[in-house]
Amino acid sequence: MFAQVVVDIEHSKIDRIFSYMVPDGMDAAIGSRVLVPFGRANTAVEGYVLGFSETADIPPERIKRIHRVLRKIPEFTENQLKLAYRIKDAYMTPLVTALRLMFPAEMRGERVSELTRRYVALNLNPLDLMAAKESLVAKDGKIKAPVMAGILDMLGETPTALTALTDTFPSAASAVTAMEKKGWVITFDQETGRNPIKAISPHGDTDFVLTRDQINAIEAITKSENGHFLLHGVTGSGKTEVYIRCIEHCIRSGKTAIMLVPEIALTPQMIAMFSTRLGREIALYHSQLSAGERYDEWRKINSGEAKVVIGPRSALFVPLKNVGLIILDEEHENSYRADTHPKYRTHDIARMRAEIEGARLVFSSATPLVETYYEARTGGLELLSLPKRVMDLPLPDVYIEDMRKELREGNRTIFSGRLYDALVETLEAKKQANLSINRRGVSAFVMCRGCGHIVRCDDCDVSMTLHNRDAHGTLVCHYCGRTKPYSNICEKCGKPYVKAFGIGTQQIEYQVNRMFPKARTLRMDLDTTRTKDAHADIYRKFKNGEADILIGTQLVAKGLDFENVTLVGAMAADISLHFPDYLAVEKSYALLEQVAGRAGRKGSGRVVIQTYKPEHFAIQFAAKHDYIGFYEEEIKQRQQLSYPPFGTIIRILFAGTDEAQTKAACETVQSGLKNALAAHRTDILVFKSSPAPIKKIMTKQRYQIVMKIKNTEDIETIKQKIYAELKNHQFDTVNFGIEINPPNMV
Ligand code: ADP
Ligand code: ZN
Repeated sequence: MFAQVVVDIEHSKIDRIFSYMVPDGMDAAIGSRVLVPFGRANTAVEGYVLGFSETADIPPERIKRIHRVLRKIPEFTENQLKLAYRIKDAYMTPLVTALRLMFPAEMRGERVSELTRRYVALNLNPLDLMAAKESLVAKDGKIKAPVMAGILDMLGETPTALTALTDTFPSAASAVTAMEKKGWVITFDQETGRNPIKAISPHGDTDFVLTRDQINAIEAITKSENGHFLLHGVTGSGKTEVYIRCIEHCIRSGKTAIMLVPEIALTPQMIAMFSTRLGREIALYHSQLSAGERYDEWRKINSGEAKVVIGPRSALFVPLKNVGLIILDEEHENSYRADTHPKYRTHDIARMRAEIEGARLVFSSATPLVETYYEARTGGLELLSLPKRVMDLPLPDVYIEDMRKELREGNRTIFSGRLYDALVETLEAKKQANLSINRRGVSAFVMCRGCGHIVRCDDCDVSMTLHNRDAHGTLVCHYCGRTKPYSNICEKCGKPYVKAFGIGTQQIEYQVNRMFPKARTLRMDLDTTRTKDAHADIYRKFKNGEADILIGTQLVAKGLDFENVTLVGAMAADISLHFPDYLAVEKSYALLEQVAGRAGRKGSGRVVIQTYKPEHFAIQFAAKHDYIGFYEEEIKQRQQLSYPPFGTIIRILFAGTDEAQTKAACETVQSGLKNALAAHRTDILVFKSSPAPIKKIMTKQRYQIVMKIKNTEDIETIKQKIYAELKNHQFDTVNFGIEINPPNMV
């Protein structure tokens, strides 16, 4: 018998299937990882079995044999293989690149190839450990055996998987052997690993009556066999309860479910709630697990033990069988777009997987993507609405504060009068406050502090970004590459108040401490949440009342449910409105709505939005909690500018060490595309090449072609022609790749 094998080498030139002989008695299956001789030198490389046949396409005397099967259980299911083929076609990637999405990286290279795993445990008391560490230091202070020293530092109270050590130190195995001889460590093999779902007190009372809207949504989803839905429910409308009931229904009928959540929403509280409700049948799958934990969870899924998988976008690729339901919670979140190659949208892959599995698909959000809502309006998705909060809890009152006016009236602080007074009141009443700032505010756009005018690109109607802030500065449009010199004189009102924006959490904390010296503050941002448990720690401290004011990026707005918080301040709420991408307005709206939905979840609360653009419709509608009003306005603008869903933005990015070669490659492809698309000229609204906004990243020069194409019935043909044309080009020294509707362009 012969096996079709794809080798695990990521290169378009060897993106083909090779036939190998399966020796008698070898236990290979579709999805098996195998070791095969490859190339003229017969180097042993890893590959995957894609199928079997009785005949081979090359003469029997030339066919090579599979060396061995590396792991008994297959790496991927047949449905995953189908998914990989669809990803290959949709994103022009080699098949192995698509297959690599299907399992944790640490499983490649035979690093975790055994079913049992080897653990390393420290065998020293604290005094001996110190002595051991000292013995590794030479007289001159140099470390004699840095790997051993590093491993001693890594080993803690609980045994560590050897794979976790080799992830950090490739030569860990031999160092561990040496250390075992010295008696410093012991090693042992263990079948199963730890359970990453840590014991947390049970959470989630269920003795409530479902609302009529919840019942309708649950019925619609469970009664359909493979329907596609948009669940649109305001914050606090009980969407999570809908997921849980649908998942339970799914398990009862013998199927499984995948629930995707944004990475930052995977809080211990949320995990605890799901594990209380759904029991031990859930598996967690995300990047914060250690290599060993992730492998254990993967096995639990692969063996069929787990019936529900919860995780961020990578959880969509798990080897779960018999999938009956796929949910994307908070479907508007940016983390559903992959930022490494292939740059997929999770929505698209979820749809592929749902089709392959015959599963139901639910996109869910309080603030759906405009594109998703448009699809629901035009019949592509069934719309299910939860327009009211459970138990008729009111939404908080929202105040919009015009920071231009504050400045005119002499207030130069970062707090509007209203926010300042509200903070004073909140502190006096021994309640808590949240101050949240847009994370994207760290980057710089320029605005006139006198009139609120933002410098925009004439062609694209997006704000321009300040580059080279410390020199004179250049304004760059991230869509077409147009540049303008930066000046502090406003082009609209002529006053010298144009300034680069971008305030951070640290600055806010500093100002709070200065103006409210008695208030106790906590800060939650990327800096303070680097370690694994930091997020949970800050959460716990705030919940326990150890601080009065929690300051943070939008992290704070997510998944947090504090009963004692009666005031939320959104600082520089409009910063992201002016970001140079077509998603900027809806992102700002979503953020404000999330923030505005937080205060006083269990009662009333107050939200203060501080902005330089109070009249902007996104801010006005967010203050009224009116998503549909917002949608109607935004979709009009998208139509006028031919942005998605009415147009498609395509960027082809070139990167090479040599600038002239990179530019030349870009121009060659552009003229090729011009010819290939000659028949579609009227559908192509923008077609420009230019240096990329960030001209050099990691010593690579970058050039780009940007196209904006009307979405007519020809759009698929046009895309196919672009793909076909790109396949005609290959450069030795320049790489290039295509992005469709990129969420940002740097
Ligand atoms: P969403 O995800 O829509 O923002 P949640 O699912 O977090 O809202 O629900 C908010 C709170 O309401 C949760 O504590 C949940 O347990 C509770 N809840 C859900 N459904 C009901 C209901 N029908 N009656 C009362 N409380 C409910
Ligand atoms: Zn001005």
